[in-house]
Amino acid sequence: MTIERDSVKHPLVIRHLTVSAVSHPAPSIARITLSGDELAGFVSSGPTDHVKVFFPDPATGVLTAPTMTADGIKKPKGEGKVISRDYTPLGFRTDAGRHELDIDFVVHGDEGPASAWAGKAAAGDSLVIAGPRGSRLLPVGATHVILIADETAFPAASRWIDMLPTSVNITALFDVADESLESYFSDELKARMDAEWFYRRDGLGQLEAALRALGEIGESTFVFLAGEATTLVPLRRYLRRELGLPKQQVTADGYWRRGVTNADHHEPIDPSDPED
Ligand SMILES: Cc1cc2nc3c(=O)[nH]c(=O)nc-3n(C[C@H](O)[C@H](O)[C@H](O)COP(=O)(O)OP(=O)(O)OC[C@H]3O[C@@H](n4cnc5c(N)ncnc54)[C@H](O)[C@@H]3O)c2cc1C
Repeated sequence: MTIERDSVKHPLVIRHLTVSAVSHPAPSIARITLSGDELAGFVSSGPTDHVKVFFPDPATGVLTAPTMTADGIKKPKGEGKVISRDYTPLGFRTDAGRHELDIDFVVHGDEGPASAWAGKAAAGDSLVIAGPRGSRLLPVGATHVILIADETAFPAASRWIDMLPTSVNITALFDVADESLESYFSDELKARMDAEWFYRRDGLGQLEAALRALGEIGESTFVFLAGEATTLVPLRRYLRRELGLPKQQVTADGYWRRGVTNADHHEPIDPSDPED
């Protein structure tokens, strides 16, 4: 059976929100819960959805966000710098009229404005989000899903595991900084997948070896790869070129690129094979 994945569009909405809680599912991940009436009508129907998050300028502390006008989205004139990054809406709930959205931020130091903000975020802080503009829905026809993710894609992996029907087998290969990230997934999510963990200090070859060791990948298997862009290149080459898997069976998304500020995930992760 051929795998197919539909997309749906959502109206673009800009939302001004307030941090209502901060927790840490792993020491290097800040789970920021955002609240506010503007979350009414929030929709995220795909496991790989993202929102654009707008941050305060670390130099001035001023948060400048675009506005929606009749002519579309507009950047404010003459105000501060607009600083945004992409994040996965992990969980959205409404309880007794109160809306809450969780976003998990990898805290990797102060050089990036998103990480610097998340590392210090506290209840009462302001944040602006836009989107998701659209959702790519679950692949129809897949009986097995392979998730290859680093910690930036743990929220996406969580959503895959949460959304996939229990009839779909899930294999996960996680590439993380160290063992402390293993506390991230709940027991319930851990029970749904067959996971192997790899630590970056041990080198990258292990991830590729583990992927090769999975053996033949059948036509009803879907593979989602997300994380540091250059790390994904040999894995994607193996899947697309060596195994010859068609595009609809493999999605590889570079969520960040080592040494690049605000890397654009729309750029091909492999410039020598820019078909993505
Ligand atoms: C669709 C999509 C969904 C994403 N979802 C999430 C999510 O849910 N949670 C999440 O944490 N991230 C997520 N990301 C990744 C996140 O957008 C990037 O990591 C972003 O670059 C962080 O911004 P920053 O301001 O901290 O760093 P930047 O200013 O962009 O970069 C500054 C420096 O930090 C490095 N850097 C960036 N990210 C990391 C990192 N994680 N570890 C180590 N070094 C890093 C860069 O290479 C650069 O050298 C997602 C990205 C995409 C495209």
